[in-house]
Amino acid sequence: MSEKILVIGANGQIGTELVTALRGIHGSAQVVACDINNPIYAIRNSGPFEFVNVLDKENLHQIFNKHQPTQVYLLAAMLSAVGEQKPKLAWDLNMTGLLNVLDFAVEFKIAKVFWPSSIAVFGPHSPQYNTPQFCVMDPNTVYGFSKLAGERWCEYYHAKYGVDVRSIRYPGLIGWRANPGGGTTDYAVHIFHSAIKTGKYESFLSEDTALPMMYMDDAIRATLELMDAPAESLSTRAGYNLGGISFTPRTLAAEIKKHIPDFEISYADNDPRQAIADSWPKSIDDTTAQNDWGWEMEFDLAKMTEDMLMNLKKVYT
Ligand code: NAD
Repeated sequence: MSEKILVIGANGQIGTELVTALRGIHGSAQVVACDINNPIYAIRNSGPFEFVNVLDKENLHQIFNKHQPTQVYLLAAMLSAVGEQKPKLAWDLNMTGLLNVLDFAVEFKIAKVFWPSSIAVFGPHSPQYNTPQFCVMDPNTVYGFSKLAGERWCEYYHAKYGVDVRSIRYPGLIGWRANPGGGTTDYAVHIFHSAIKTGKYESFLSEDTALPMMYMDDAIRATLELMDAPAESLSTRAGYNLGGISFTPRTLAAEIKKHIPDFEISYADNDPRQAIADSWPKSIDDTTAQNDWGWEMEFDLAKMTEDMLMNLKKVYT
């Protein structure tokens, strides 16, 4: 059976890359990119696009009705740093958007739904190193507890209504095709752009702030592999931990210097994103994803840095 896929929040950092990957697999016409904002060039010119506000249930219903999707990827959300500036809006978008899609997954008998969670579900009392799949979770950002509540809703809709919803707790994602949308790990993308454009960068996180990160190629492959995994192999419908690469601004800068020897990094004081970063894990244990659906990361720090710089240099020349 051919798939018909809706990607909601398609213009963002992940959506841009996911839509391209899905269109490569299923054919352009089968993947409908949806977003509240005007589509970017790469999305608009490669297949169908619909304006969708995931909070407008009537509008969303029309789109489901028109396209009769077999799979839905819900990416529209407010990220951690922006969410702290607009906490009620973040809660509303992240919760109501998810519940609207889960309700329509039941009504339209959608075969599979993907909804991303985040390492932000962990908090100051979670183990900081090799944070396990199951442990104390006391997130203290609106983004974090909206993701944790979202995970519980995914488990609930799966258990009560049989919705085949799948999720990953993405680490901070690094890619060269699209800009990040206001998260705490954005520095790890901005640093590459600045390194090429100006040879220097001021990090909003302190030099020894370790966080789990992942190259976008790995994140997209993980998403597609999880969606292809047999349902019976999945032991959780909350987000799967993915370890990725743990590094600090200092180690990332040292890696960039191997390619751009004159690159200089400095560090800002008192950025509000520091407190968010300090409440998150420094490294993640992803044994459950390895065991359940064979997850294996490909890009380490050196390989990611080389690929980012090579591609961004092409973009800027
Ligand atoms: P992003 O901010 O780059 O993109 C979100 C997209 O959603 C934007 O194109 C925006 O226009 C759209 N949108 C916003 N409100 C909408 C609405 N009401 N209706 C329809 N569309 C709307 O986000 P991203 O980085 O691509 O993240 C996608 C998902 O992955 C989010 O759920 C995020 O929490 C999760 N995630 C991302 C990261 C990361 O590092 N990027 C890490 C962990 C989890």
